[in-house]
Amino acid sequence: MLGNTGLIMIRIIFFTILFFIFYYVLLNLFKVILTPRRRTSQSEPEELVQDPYCKVYIPKRSAVRKKIDRSTFYFCNQECLENYVKGDKEDRQ
Ligand SMILES: [Zn+2]
Repeated sequence: MLGNTGLIMIRIIFFTILFFIFYYVLLNLFKVILTPRRRTSQSEPEELVQDPYCKVYIPKRSAVRKKIDRSTFYFCNQECLENYVKGDKEDRQ
């Protein structure tokens, strides 16, 4: 039979093990949370740009670029680009 001190010792050991398990799980959880973020930001710096014609947000890489008056505009497709350029010219007349 175990005395009171024996039970206390078992509890201390039990909680110490529990603490280390908890600590280990928490540490792994942080790794899981932090690692994918770093990977995504490094491998694909996906910057979103707004199409000034249809107001849609598109990734910069797949956008159609057009330089107008020293500033670059990004469009979702060629059609939007042409419509925007056309509209821009009409506004000036
Ligand atoms: Zn568009």
